[in-house]
Amino acid sequence: MTKLNMKLAESIFSAPSLSKKEALVLNAIRKFSDENNWHLLMDAYGNMYVQKGQLERGEKFPVLVAHVDTVHYDHSGLIETGGRLDIQEENGILRAYHPDTGMQTGIGGDDKAGVIIALEVLSKIDKGMCAFFRAEEIGCIGSRQLDTDIMAQGGYAIQFDAPGNEVSEYVDGVKLYNSTFLDLIAPTLEKFEMTDFVKYNPFTDIARIRERLDYNTLNMGAGYHNYHSSTEYVVINEMEKAIACALEIVQVLGSQHYPFDELEDDLNSDALGSRAAEPTPDADAVAARPLFPIPGL
Ligand SMILES: [Zn+2]
Repeated sequence: MTKLNMKLAESIFSAPSLSKKEALVLNAIRKFSDENNWHLLMDAYGNMYVQKGQLERGEKFPVLVAHVDTVHYDHSGLIETGGRLDIQEENGILRAYHPDTGMQTGIGGDDKAGVIIALEVLSKIDKGMCAFFRAEEIGCIGSRQLDTDIMAQGGYAIQFDAPGNEVSEYVDGVKLYNSTFLDLIAPTLEKFEMTDFVKYNPFTDIARIRERLDYNTLNMGAGYHNYHSSTEYVVINEMEKAIACALEIVQVLGSQHYPFDELEDDLNSDALGSRAAEPTPDADAVAARPLFPIPGL
């Protein structure tokens, strides 16, 4: 398995970022993109897209997705002064320490680990696209304003925004993929032990993509733990596993379009009583689920 690019990881993890104050992470992405001569785009809201390679006729990009904001409000002062978090590794685990106090603080693996994974995957494939959304933590504000023309160049999307080995089936009540799509990638998910299927995740950008675009989507673990807390850390080999898993998925699926078909799962569920038979949770059920605390809201 390829080793994590620690220089890239350090540059992203050390950058403090809060919803609507993501400039330091976006600058680190821009720098990495420029070093690789990738094509950088920004939409009207300031979400950032990075494209690599040219699409041939009929081809579509694999889209790698993460959000650039975190919830660690004690980083606010650092953002103002352009300060950096102190990132330290111990036994394959990365933690962040606040430079002013020396105390541990959340590393913001949710979802800076996803950002790093997406960039690492892009660096290892011939053609693809990353989509980095702002202000996810305060209600997917960025991805609600995604650029549909840019995103329509994608043929399927993978977000890295879940703890451990999780794979989300529904996010925010939105079904992410068809059973035929899952069948194609199931052997790869199994191989990399991305098999902790979670029925209902409260929210992340991928649901907004699935709603607005016509293709299949996936949300998987990014190696972060204790998210939204001051003890948040990331496990390096889990990030490496997510990179390897996504690389194999892209290898299997290629630069093609995988349309999401609402009807397909309905038919399957009628005929076969497959896992697609699970009902979409109603809005009240989703709203009643405990959401993580968002300071200041
Ligand atoms: Zn997240």
